[in-house]
Amino acid sequence: MKPAMMQTKKLRIEKHTSDGSGQLDCLPFSSAQDQPMNVPLLDLKAHHAPIKDEVLSKISEVIDCNAFAGGPFVESFEYAFADYCKVEQAIGVGSGTESLWLALLAQGIGPGDEVITAPNTYIATAEAINFTGARPVFVDILEDTYNLNPDLIEAAITPKTKAIIPVHLFGQMADMDPILEIAERHGLFVMEDSAQAVSADYKGRRAGSIGHCASFSFYPGKNLGAFGEAGAITTNDASLAQKIRSLRDHGQAKKYFHSRLGWNSRMDGIQGAVLELKLKRIDGATAGRRKAASCYSEKLSAIEGIFLPSENRSCKHVYHIYSIRVTNRDTLLESLRERGVGGSIHYPIPLHLQKACQSLGYEKGDFPIAEKCASEFLSLPMFPELTEEQISYVANTLKELIR
Ligand SMILES: *Cc1c(COP(=O)(O)O)cnc(C)c1O
Repeated sequence: MKPAMMQTKKLRIEKHTSDGSGQLDCLPFSSAQDQPMNVPLLDLKAHHAPIKDEVLSKISEVIDCNAFAGGPFVESFEYAFADYCKVEQAIGVGSGTESLWLALLAQGIGPGDEVITAPNTYIATAEAINFTGARPVFVDILEDTYNLNPDLIEAAITPKTKAIIPVHLFGQMADMDPILEIAERHGLFVMEDSAQAVSADYKGRRAGSIGHCASFSFYPGKNLGAFGEAGAITTNDASLAQKIRSLRDHGQAKKYFHSRLGWNSRMDGIQGAVLELKLKRIDGATAGRRKAASCYSEKLSAIEGIFLPSENRSCKHVYHIYSIRVTNRDTLLESLRERGVGGSIHYPIPLHLQKACQSLGYEKGDFPIAEKCASEFLSLPMFPELTEEQISYVANTLKELIR
């Protein structure tokens, strides 16, 4: 059966205000039969509708200024983003993948070095390590937060280890204090992979402000998304920042005068302009996600067999992704999709079992928690504009399918 289009249904609850901060009443589980509807995994159209005119006029400003590659709009965003993350420097680059790579290069990491990270991250984290010439070394995760298990890090440290990249998976920050303590004891560089964690907190400190540096992705689907590809590095280390600025622009401080060989990873002017506008609304968007997450958790806690996301007491989780765990994940995902619910899996195969990482020599069973979670993760629709009606539909559909 084809689900009816969502738009044809009259909404019975108040819609979110334009900045996504609108209140959402979490009604108790309804036993009434829901009408079929489509609930997409992510609804960028709904997210952008309230700001589209403002964005278009800003883009027109960029066009009038011919400020397409780097330039004043990028610089202005860099100041705003550094300020938001409570750090001294932000450097805009071409993508999140390049932000990871350039920061590692600037730190001097290369062939012969090892960099520790989690196996349950997006491939980019390992790619960036690999493209410096260094070797990714994985450490298993915690079963409640899905982030690096600090207790397992020391066993993975060798004389070749140069850095640790904790990944703030799904929008919840890794347990940074013990990680930093271990890093300090062993003289290691710490970069937070904050691609999924703009506006997240750990003990009152912002994602991106705790490690020696942090990488961010503004891929359109991320919780701070550009209108194309973009990324950034944040740091309080002025000399590291200066190196990254040089590397992202062919090693030139002045046009055609190259002090080192770099790369082209300048952020687009249009992305800088769009991101600065969207950054103004990130707190509202995060509030919308958190509200949707608590609404989900309230409704889903009544269903047996679902393991809900857990929020560490010292963290503000921003729910870039709301991922539950279920044992019959693959059939459940298929059935959800048949009923119009846009589920997904982040990520189905941990990196140590990816074909691309075969040469690292890992085997099935090396990281049991990451492997178990990868077989059970099921991401549900999550975006700031998600309505209570949509959440109810997803929860009721899950309840029916699990029963
Ligand atoms: C998205 C993402 C990246 C890569 O960012 P791009 O902008 O897509 O290059 C890196 N790490 C994590 C954890 C991500 O989610």
